[in-house]
Amino acid sequence: MDTRTRSVEQIVPSTPGQLTVYACGPTVYRYAHVGNLRTFLLTDLIRRTAELLGLQVRLVQNITDVGHLQDDTAVDADGEDKLLAQARAENKDPFAVARFYEEAFHRDLALLGVHPADAYPRASECIDLMVALIVTLIDKGKAYVGDDGTVYFSAESFEGYGAISGNKLSELRAGHGATGESTATGKRFHADWALWKLASESREMTWPSPWGHGFPGWHIECSAMSLELLGSVIDVHTGGIDLRFPHHEDERAQSDSAAGHEVVRHWVHGEHLLFEGRKMAKSTGNVVLVADVVERGFDPLALRLAFLSSRYRQQANLSWDAIAAAQKTLDRWRASVAAWAEEPSKPMCAEVQAGVLEAFCDDLDTPRALQVLRTCEKSSMPDGCKFEIFAWADRLLGLDLARDVGRAPAALPEGAASLLSERATARGGKDFAASDRLRDALAALGVAVKDTPAGQEWTLS
Ligand code: AMP
Ligand code: ZN
Repeated sequence: MDTRTRSVEQIVPSTPGQLTVYACGPTVYRYAHVGNLRTFLLTDLIRRTAELLGLQVRLVQNITDVGHLQDDTAVDADGEDKLLAQARAENKDPFAVARFYEEAFHRDLALLGVHPADAYPRASECIDLMVALIVTLIDKGKAYVGDDGTVYFSAESFEGYGAISGNKLSELRAGHGATGESTATGKRFHADWALWKLASESREMTWPSPWGHGFPGWHIECSAMSLELLGSVIDVHTGGIDLRFPHHEDERAQSDSAAGHEVVRHWVHGEHLLFEGRKMAKSTGNVVLVADVVERGFDPLALRLAFLSSRYRQQANLSWDAIAAAQKTLDRWRASVAAWAEEPSKPMCAEVQAGVLEAFCDDLDTPRALQVLRTCEKSSMPDGCKFEIFAWADRLLGLDLARDVGRAPAALPEGAASLLSERATARGGKDFAASDRLRDALAALGVAVKDTPAGQEWTLS
């Protein structure tokens, strides 16, 4: 679902065969909670689906270790940086705190079966890029130095402001609204936001700049890092729903103003996760970590399966009961896959495979994909066939289903799964010319297809 166009769009990579993805990463001042992880999983599902379709994916996820203030709407230099506050609370060096939680983040992702990104740029190591981008924005008349020495982005200079969130500038009242703030500043317009803030010498995590010693705003980090590492056209940009505004709205204004065109082709946002019906917040003591899940004796991949049971764009209500139920399914599937693997390998049923793949391609309809697999599990299909299907589907699911199996499943060559899926559609529509053409294309990849009353079957030739 493309948040900006508010419709499900087909993703056509700007460079054929390659997909570029930017994911807003964690602010490393605390452990990621399971809500954060649900959002990080969204990016992993996009990546796995694209790779299964034969695309080469380049994924960049930033590490925010500076500039994310406690109150995102505040732009004053006295604003409390989340990381500095935590460092004070732990009586540690802020960089030590940042590296500690960054490592914990990587460990959590690994436990959850999330494939690592190709780059994890740290905001604190990209200050030069941010300064250069701010200089460009000033040169283009999009940013200015306010009376208070802060560099602001001029919201009114960007015509399309509000397209992602629907928050039009004319409707954002001064002193209110998410970018407006009540304190007097050197801004010329209430919805302008800070790109660079001046700081006293005593503040930690500050850098020199053409405008004086200070630190960057949070939004400019993502523009600078994404433009540098992925270029000025980015196929997909992900994040949690709360980042729609102001973070992504402001990032879009900055990036597009610098590039002179629409930089991000598709904005995809994951809805929030509730736990036992309540928002996850430190203040209410309702925060669940992967460590808590492990402590209760669950496999972290049961958490992953529980996430897959709801679609990313729906708010999900996770509970201990739901994780326990997912653990049961996970145990059963692993045992079944191991048992099925004992039977002679049989060609995979391409219809079931197409059902799973189509569900993933249909805006990551993971509940439907799981339903297709449950139906297959209960069907009278030969065990050797079920084994191949579940082992293949696990490339999308990431549940380590073949963990207890000694042999490797037959792996389809890259791009073959989507050809099989297309062929199933062609056959369904009685388009036999296309079906024959796709059979030849599959044969060229080394996949022999046979049509049976139950649908297509394939083997590696
Ligand atoms: P943060 O570390 O606070 O910058 O957040 C990291 C990511 O988690 C962002 O993409 C947020 O939008 C997302 N996020 C925060 N809270 C939740 C939640 N309860 N459910 C899902 N995603 C969340
Ligand atoms: Zn971001």
